[in-house]
Amino acid sequence: MKMPKKVRILCPFCKKHTIHDVDKVKKGRASSLSWIVRQKKRRSGIGNSGKFSKVPGGDKPTKKVFLKYRCTECKKAHQKSGFRVSKLELID
Ligand SMILES: [Zn+2]
Repeated sequence: MKMPKKVRILCPFCKKHTIHDVDKVKKGRASSLSWIVRQKKRRSGIGNSGKFSKVPGGDKPTKKVFLKYRCTECKKAHQKSGFRVSKLELID
């Protein structure tokens, strides 16, 4: 999917349509991952490891991307809900 770097959308701060700079939001650390790792560690050892006996599934074919929109007039940024796309390119 191709996305223009500048879009004209509604700014929630100015309450009017202005030019926005589009930027990809960088992914933070997955906090839930550490929890599952601890659970796995507790179950490892002798005997059945319960739900961790299952073969882990592969990665999903698409990744969720979040876009940040920065208003060029008030310089405030707002974010839209993420969507799933295999590849995202920002074009001029
Ligand atoms: Zn604005």
